[in-house]
Amino acid sequence: MHPSEKEFADLLDYYHINYLYEPRSFPLRWDGSRVVEMFTPDFYLPEYDQYFELTTMKQNLVTQKNRKLRHVREMYPEVNVQLLYRRDLMRLMGKYGFGPLSEVSVEGTERVLFDEATVQRRVRELGAQLTEDYAGEEPVLIGILRGVVVFMADLMRAMNLPVQVEFMEITHYGEEREKSIDVIRDVMTELKGRHVIIVEDIVDTGLTLRYLLEYLQAKGPASVRVCTMLDKSVRRMADVPIGYVGFEVPDEFVIGYGLDYGGRYRNLPYIGVLQPVEPKAVPQR
Ligand code: 5GP
Repeated sequence: MHPSEKEFADLLDYYHINYLYEPRSFPLRWDGSRVVEMFTPDFYLPEYDQYFELTTMKQNLVTQKNRKLRHVREMYPEVNVQLLYRRDLMRLMGKYGFGPLSEVSVEGTERVLFDEATVQRRVRELGAQLTEDYAGEEPVLIGILRGVVVFMADLMRAMNLPVQVEFMEITHYGEEREKSIDVIRDVMTELKGRHVIIVEDIVDTGLTLRYLLEYLQAKGPASVRVCTMLDKSVRRMADVPIGYVGFEVPDEFVIGYGLDYGGRYRNLPYIGVLQPVEPKAVPQR
């Protein structure tokens, strides 16, 4: 009935998994003896005694489907039904599949955390918030190279204010990270009396940020606040104030939207989790 059902069926065929398409309907509501509502899951896998319902629908329709599914589970507790969302299907296709859906995931991304549309929407919200908070001012945005370039480019265009844009580059060296941060490219603008917004791609331990806050405070600005696209707050070691956060991220290594792994993946339009490298098989003797 639907292209995604066809793809799911192809996948099952490829792996020789038996299935029946819509083999059974579950009556949910009656008017007298007449069934007025029922639920027909898309697939049944007899070997696993498992039904699957696929959905690629909009959120409000999914809510309805979820309600129906809850109903089925209440009325038919012995029946195993699982809803597969579009993201589940894409994950399946990315891992085991072929065809158009499998192309959405590039090598290197284990899973997408925030897709392009979600990221863009959030950046526009942050831009609107900054526009409101800095109304009447001309703040200096200071981006920390290189991960920040993509976020900075989008954020500054989401701000409806006169702004100045600066970049700094720092380097970490040695074992003791905190003591060994060095500024290798400083800001060119005089910051005395200015409102400064440090723009970051991600704040992890917060040690980099703590160093930067002290470094920039010493230049006598009117104020300094931080705007980061991602906050991995579970790993925080230094207590740094963060004014604006795009998204909270789990303790995993993320890539895309400016963030790299070994210099790659910065140009992905979404934010994803890096696929862990498979350990090389030890040759058998
Ligand atoms: P911290 O807050 O620990 O001092 O360091 C933040 C910096 O570590 C970021 O600017 C970024 O360069 C790097 N970093 C931390 N977590 C991640 C991550 O999940 N992915 C990537 N690509 N870089 C990260």
